[in-house]
Amino acid sequence: KAAIEIRGVSRIYGTGHDKVTALDGIFLDIRENEFFTLLGPSGCGKTTLLRLIAGFDFPTTGGILLHGEDIAPLPPFKRPVNTVFQSYALFPHMTVADNIGFGLKMLGNPKAEVEARVAEMLDLVHMTEMRDRQVSQISGGQQQRVALARALAPKPKVLLLDEPLSALDYKLRKEMQIELKRVQAETGITFIFVTHDQEEALTMSDRIAVMSAGSLRQVGSPWDIYDRPAERFVADFIGESNFLEVEVASVTGDRASVRLRSGREIPATFPEGTTPKDKVTIVIRPEHAEIVDPTDEATLKGVIENVVYLGTDTNITVQLEGGSLFTVRQQNSRSGSCGRTEGQSVGILVSDDVAQ
Ligand code: ADP
Ligand code: MG
Repeated sequence: KAAIEIRGVSRIYGTGHDKVTALDGIFLDIRENEFFTLLGPSGCGKTTLLRLIAGFDFPTTGGILLHGEDIAPLPPFKRPVNTVFQSYALFPHMTVADNIGFGLKMLGNPKAEVEARVAEMLDLVHMTEMRDRQVSQISGGQQQRVALARALAPKPKVLLLDEPLSALDYKLRKEMQIELKRVQAETGITFIFVTHDQEEALTMSDRIAVMSAGSLRQVGSPWDIYDRPAERFVADFIGESNFLEVEVASVTGDRASVRLRSGREIPATFPEGTTPKDKVTIVIRPEHAEIVDPTDEATLKGVIENVVYLGTDTNITVQLEGGSLFTVRQQNSRSGSCGRTEGQSVGILVSDDVAQ
């Protein structure tokens, strides 16, 4: 069942030379109970879409339904939606508990009810011990928890989170990613989470919408997006990719065999309608290929241009015979070095699974 239905929404700012199409005719269903992520580069329209759902701004065309009802007539405070901002927007001189209860009190809830709800929220975000601390005297990660508790206190049906983790350092961000997932699972509230960080999107989301320049490029599970990118932009934006220009040799269903420049054929997955002799671009992830001796049955041949040690893996970039670069990621063994060095002539073996 859909929690939110975005129906042909556009948002155009300004006119004439100043015209900016921040959102360009978006259709999107976000399911109840879902951890849904909007992912895309800066300026692609993520914040604009959240603002339209929250009611801080209005679509130029199109509409938004919440649990089947058009929310256009509802002012922000009447929508069962709340927002966590990157800046947290807490009151620094108030206590943790007063921050969490502030909205509830403003809405005129009885004191005892506010207190009970605040206690529940403190427990949810594991901040009960900190309840009487001033917000200015707790850490960034703790402030993040308070902001989350405050946003959840009025029991919204949908929680909007606009890059809430981007100000945190790496370790804390990883910790808060797990916390957000836990809180979403425990509360069963639909989360719409915004990030420009592809790794964060892949680890946290039930589904991801990849956006660019005001439109949706692909909507799907992390697996879909990573392993079956619908187009080059998605493959390029999510993870690392090698692109090869090839010719289709034969087609059976959504499987095709493609011919590389070297004349060798490898399997690939394609959308329907692909026919033999088509010139297509295939994407091969660095971890779906391996470096072999050039004398082996290599699918590609070239010379190692550089070797980058990454701890668990090593990235080996090879200049192919045709001149383009191809990166292979190999897991490091405990015995250390991968034994490959710059200038070596090598072959690259591509494993079976290749997407368009
Ligand atoms: P994101 O959150 O993905 O970084 P935004 O939704 O903030 O992107 O912005 C999308 C586009 O709309 C950008 O080009 C931005 O400059 C433009 N934009 C956003 N808000 C306004 C505004 N109030 N007036 C004019 N242009 C705006
Ligand atoms: Mg933004």
